[in-house]
Amino acid sequence: MSAQHPIAIVGGGPAGALAGTLLAAAGKEVILFDEKLAWEKPCGGGLTHKAVERYPFLADARSGSHLVGHCELISPSGKTVRFDMQYPVAIFSRLALNGLLLERAERAGVKVHRARVAEITGDTRGWKLVTPDGEYSASYLILAAGARNLFRSQFLSPVSPSDLMVTAGYFIPGSSSLLQIQFLEGITGYIWVFPRADHVSAGIAGKMDGTPTAKLRRKLEDWLEKNGFQLDGARFYSHILPSFRTETLDKLKVCGEGWAMIGDNAGLVDPITGEGLYYALRSAELCATAVARGEPADYQARLQEDVLGELKLAAKVSHRFYNGEIFGHSVLERIVHLTAQSASFRELMSDLFAGTQGYRDLRARLYQILPSVMAESLAATLCSPWNSRRSDFVKHASFE
Ligand SMILES: Cc1cc2nc3c(=O)[nH]c(=O)nc-3n(C[C@H](O)[C@H](O)[C@H](O)COP(=O)(O)OP(=O)(O)OC[C@H]3O[C@@H](n4cnc5c(N)ncnc54)[C@H](O)[C@@H]3O)c2cc1C
Repeated sequence: MSAQHPIAIVGGGPAGALAGTLLAAAGKEVILFDEKLAWEKPCGGGLTHKAVERYPFLADARSGSHLVGHCELISPSGKTVRFDMQYPVAIFSRLALNGLLLERAERAGVKVHRARVAEITGDTRGWKLVTPDGEYSASYLILAAGARNLFRSQFLSPVSPSDLMVTAGYFIPGSSSLLQIQFLEGITGYIWVFPRADHVSAGIAGKMDGTPTAKLRRKLEDWLEKNGFQLDGARFYSHILPSFRTETLDKLKVCGEGWAMIGDNAGLVDPITGEGLYYALRSAELCATAVARGEPADYQARLQEDVLGELKLAAKVSHRFYNGEIFGHSVLERIVHLTAQSASFRELMSDLFAGTQGYRDLRARLYQILPSVMAESLAATLCSPWNSRRSDFVKHASFE
């Protein structure tokens, strides 16, 4: 890698901005290109406790975020449970989040350039990036251009539709203090309502090779109308979301001679929940650390240890989670039911939302809490006032 040119980062979302900040702080010369800079990228904007704890500077964007601690899960058949999460989810406007991260990058010394990179040529000896205002040379290339970009297939094989989700949603004027998740019959995905500081981000996601986007959009609109959300003044959005299968994650290559990919560009999104912000930040950190140390190829191994193992486990159980059955009932119905009936199960759900419960030791935790879950469910069933619509038997949860 030639040292006389800067490291170039394509994309100034969370992944690119954090990678730039860390590299500049380590004394590297960095130039970052983003065609829009800070913008309201289609996103729920939900950041888990795990993410905020690891990156405490995110709390600086407090005014652009909303801490939401109350959650509602709705099963495909319409059963509803509300519960308090131990750690609230921080829901960000992406304009505020990206703005904060890009400001930090500039303060650290990154040259932030508002420009669309139209073409990349070169090899291990150096790269040339073509933008409308000129050509730039770079010694190393970090691709952080998100899920929809020109460059992934220049370095790796194109992403298959089976590895993507489509999303459709609305930024809706108004406020709420309830995070809502509606699971859906026959769709590998869900509807979400994420209340932000000054509006609500509501959307739907489904596998690209499953339900067409127009149908998902209609489903979301019907649901929003039924649940009292007005779309007057709302802004529609749609985007793609990586949702890699196990076999794709098994073969995933995230760096080569003179280049690396981070965040959505590399497909680093939880295939069950769609959480990508944490993985964008974490992959940026791992990549920047390896590049700053002069051992860029180390990024692949560090990512494997820290991120890919977890994402592969999620990919492995994703189909079962959305489409499987336990004792003749869908997994999703069971999850909502157990969340209502058992305090131990609610605690587990709260930890999953916080990101403090990973997939690696999920099975062990389930076995560990099984006796309490069974006892609590039995007690709840015996005490249940069968005919009441909303039962009061659960201390911190309500069930309809
Ligand atoms: C509808 C939806 C809801 C989501 N909700 C959540 C959620 O609640 N929580 C969560 O954790 N994750 C969520 N995600 C995932 C999350 O949005 C992504 O994982 C995250 O934005 C990835 O960050 P990134 O920096 O890798 O990419 P991005 O945020 O996509 O940033 C890429 C940047 O590259 C720039 N760019 C692209 N091409 C070029 C080019 N040629 N030249 C210059 N610049 C370029 C773009 O302008 C953009 O700013 C959601 C995704 C979607 C689609």
